[in-house]
Amino acid sequence: MRVAVFSTKGYDRRFLEAANEKFGHSLSFFEARLDEQTAVLAEGHDAVCVFVNDRVDRPVLEALANAGIRIIALRCAGFNNVDLRAADALEITVVRVPAYSPHAVSEFTVALLMALDRRIHRAWARVRENNFALDGLIGRNLHGRTVGIIGTGRIGALVARAFRLGFGCEVLASDVTRDPELEAIGVRYAEPAELLRQVDIVSLHCPLTPETRHILNAAAIEAARPGLIVVNTSRGGLIDTSALIEGLKSRKLGGVALDVYEQEADLFFEDLSDEIIQDDVFQRLLTFPNVLVTGHQAFLTEEALEAIATTTLDSLTRAEAGEPLPLRLSAELVRA
Ligand code: NAD
Repeated sequence: MRVAVFSTKGYDRRFLEAANEKFGHSLSFFEARLDEQTAVLAEGHDAVCVFVNDRVDRPVLEALANAGIRIIALRCAGFNNVDLRAADALEITVVRVPAYSPHAVSEFTVALLMALDRRIHRAWARVRENNFALDGLIGRNLHGRTVGIIGTGRIGALVARAFRLGFGCEVLASDVTRDPELEAIGVRYAEPAELLRQVDIVSLHCPLTPETRHILNAAAIEAARPGLIVVNTSRGGLIDTSALIEGLKSRKLGGVALDVYEQEADLFFEDLSDEIIQDDVFQRLLTFPNVLVTGHQAFLTEEALEAIATTTLDSLTRAEAGEPLPLRLSAELVRA
């Protein structure tokens, strides 16, 4: 297949080209993000390959359909950036990589929380200045604390296990379906509101849907235990960032560790070190000493990049051969 790869970074190219030695597709790499203006680059291709912040809404899908694109391969798990109904209507197939490495994201989640909680980000900056004083670096043991996991799918279940079995935490969980294997190791399920009232730390692992958008809003923060630490490696839209900032200012929140941000599409994956950031909400967030932000890198391991590349190209090979596509997304997955 002739594949137009959008939002290409050096690492995408490296891993896709290596995996493609087995598949033999013709890959065109574009640094541009897919949107209404750049969709024209897809002309002359059969498929496009996109990432989390490419825009795959109705106007873009219409432009892609006009360019002759019949399949879109998401090299990620989340698909909140795709209008699946429009894709179905335009007879464009959408495939994704649902489980390239839940370990990559779950391990990063624990690392991010621990870095924040044990002040490793602040210690690193101090030591570089030959400041070895420990004042202000007092953390808390994880052992014995209560952690809430919202969404116990592939990633959330691994995070729950790490906290429960690895650190001896109490773990509360919230999900639309319960995982009996987690219950067997002592994880207790509760409604989200009840969970927030009881936990010291909450980690978000549900997908971004109309139901979960701003699941952590002002009311939820108000109802939470004072000193709550918030961790989000799922999708930025799960959190109302303004409410988060108010919670930090009032000290209701004890800390925030984020790998994702609601307006990240304007910022993440780019080197903006010489730019003036216009997003005042994001800039305010970075001013708090108890906030740690990374730029959507939880997935970024060698194992995950290899799996993403292989799975993506395999789906395209299957599509070309007219074979069933087990990783196809259909509009039924998204409720009205
Ligand atoms: P998954 O589909 O295996 O699990 C999601 C879980 O959320 C499911 O158990 C589902 O039942 C549950 N859920 C759905 N609606 C819910 C609700 N209203 N309340 C509570 N739970 C609900 O997905 P996964 O592979 O574990 O990935 C989780 C999320 O992580 C993805 O949606 C994606 O957005 C994000 N992600 C982020 C990165 C990153 O690099 N930061 C990488 C991969 C995935």
